[in-house]
Amino acid sequence: MTLNDTQRALLGGLIFDSDAPDRFPVTNPADGLVLCYVQAHGAAETTRAIAAADTAFPAWSGLTAKARSVILKKWNDLVLAHAEDMALLVTLEQGRPIRETRGEVTYGASFIEWFAEEGKRAYGRTIPATLPGKHLQTIRQPVGVCAAITPWNFPISMITRKVAPALAAGCTVVIKPSEETPLSALALYALAKQAGLPDGVISLITSVNAKEVGEVMTSDTRVRKLSFTGSTPVGKLLYAACAPTMKKVSMELGGNAPFIVFDDAEIDAAIEGALASKYRNTGQTCVCANRILVQAGIYDRFAAALVEKVKALKLEPGWREEAMLGPLINQKAIDKVEHLVDDAVKHGARIITGGHVDAQGPLFYQGTVLTGVTEDMEIFSTEIFGPVAPLFKFDTEDEAIRLANNTPFGLAAYAYTRDIGRAMRVASKLEYGMVGMNDGVISTEVTPFGGVKESGIGREGAVEGLEEYLSVKYISYGGLGAI
Ligand code: ADP
Repeated sequence: MTLNDTQRALLGGLIFDSDAPDRFPVTNPADGLVLCYVQAHGAAETTRAIAAADTAFPAWSGLTAKARSVILKKWNDLVLAHAEDMALLVTLEQGRPIRETRGEVTYGASFIEWFAEEGKRAYGRTIPATLPGKHLQTIRQPVGVCAAITPWNFPISMITRKVAPALAAGCTVVIKPSEETPLSALALYALAKQAGLPDGVISLITSVNAKEVGEVMTSDTRVRKLSFTGSTPVGKLLYAACAPTMKKVSMELGGNAPFIVFDDAEIDAAIEGALASKYRNTGQTCVCANRILVQAGIYDRFAAALVEKVKALKLEPGWREEAMLGPLINQKAIDKVEHLVDDAVKHGARIITGGHVDAQGPLFYQGTVLTGVTEDMEIFSTEIFGPVAPLFKFDTEDEAIRLANNTPFGLAAYAYTRDIGRAMRVASKLEYGMVGMNDGVISTEVTPFGGVKESGIGREGAVEGLEEYLSVKYISYGGLGAI
């Protein structure tokens, strides 16, 4: 399956049909075919983009929040007007089923819409003075030029979640999307230009040399903030690289989400929540249920009911309307999932359904459920990023909390119980940035997304998401006389 004419028109001038030394291919993970080629940028282009962002900053930050909002709203409208083509573009380069990528487009646009408004509320404060004749005030100012490095699993919303608040705050941004999904980023970029974003306010660096681009972004003194979403090892590396120039950072890194089902849970709701949390994006989200912890009294019933539902998930190329699971992003992802399942089975886990690469193609992994999984298996401590649900058994609430928190990660956690006291105790004791209590789908543009421990720093979305792109300046006006 290849790009259609409308998508080509949308990407006009930004993609190529043939290879060249300074281009790289974008492939469809469902059939392995090359969709097109895009420009392979490097250090020189990154430096130029930073210079352009630096030049554009005074004028962009000098606009009123409302003037910026008008352009952002136009961008939002254009994305929504092209929603179907954008959704198919994501499906083609990422593999995700079309019924889900439609949601990715509207979810992505929702950040533009939200921050277009929220930018108007970057309030300061007046603080009662400690001495006569003084006026003490804080104002919030844009941090300056920002760099954004984004992953492939939400190729639209991971960009808008960073870029929309940055632009709303008055910052300018250089974006490096994942090399796996540059087309969604290019389409967003083309629409942003159509909406009227001035030159240099955003730039896009499509590249296969992430390290080289990252080194320029982290070392250039003109870049005042780095926002990164991706793996924990790369996040740590970039965090360290930002230290010499003391950049502000936001890091949204890996997760190892526990999904706890207590004996007193409403089982149908817990199954629905587990399906949504585990199998969305074919298991490739950082908030996917990674360890399903089920209390002993309900374990067998839960496992049997989950297996029935998982068997019904249609694994197909993502562009087919009926597809519910699609291919994984690349061979490395398949190797990882296979290794984790093999390790679990070797140590005593049982495959109840799935457990293999599917006949549909080398990147299609079957929806899988494992029972008898224990804490000593690799799958307990590793982010799976695939459609595999490992079921662990526990006896007491304390044991569930201990197991849930026994990880260096702390992004999202889920729990199902009908006991209000337990719900409040568990929500409070989980060492996570986000908790879904009787809720398997928690991300929205109006709530703060982010983790604790090695899952990251900072929050995206909501009021907190704007703060990340603002600095507080305190001004003391003295010698005012009696006021
Ligand atoms: P994933 O395994 O999800 O691809 P990565 O952390 O490797 O996670 O990638 C997330 C983003 O980080 C991508 O845009 C990728 O190109 C970029 N990236 C990977 N390595 C580096 C690096 N050394 N410096 C800067 N960016 C990097």
